[in-house]
Amino acid sequence: MKLIKPAGCEIPNLTCRECAGRYEANSVTQVFCSAVCRSAHDTRRIERGKILYDIFMELRYNRRGASGLWSLMCRVGELWRDEDKRLRAGRQSWKDPAYVTDKNPHLLGKRGRI
Ligand SMILES: [Zn+2]
Repeated sequence: MKLIKPAGCEIPNLTCRECAGRYEANSVTQVFCSAVCRSAHDTRRIERGKILYDIFMELRYNRRGASGLWSLMCRVGELWRDEDKRLRAGRQSWKDPAYVTDKNPHLLGKRGRI
C-alpha cells in the first residue's frame, strides 16, 4: 500500500527489521529497507517453519509419539532466539500473530478470537 503523504507530513526514517539499516518508508506498512531484506526475512521464516510443522503435526495428531515434543519445540525456539541475538542484535525475527490472523481470518473463532 502506497502512503499518500499529506502536505507537511513527514515520514520518519525507520530501522529495517532485517539489516538494522535506516531507510525512508514508502508505505505505512513497510518494515524492510529493500526486497532483499524482506526476502531474507521470509526465507528464514520458511526454513524455520518447515522444522516446526512436522513437530507440531506429530504433537497434535499422533499423541503416541508426542512425548517430549513440546520441550523440543521450546528448545528449537531458544536456539533461534539465541541465533537472533547473536546474528541480528536481538531484532525480532517473527511477525506479530495479528499478521497471521489478518491474512487468514478464517482461522479465528466465531467471536473473532484466537
Ligand atoms: Zn534492510
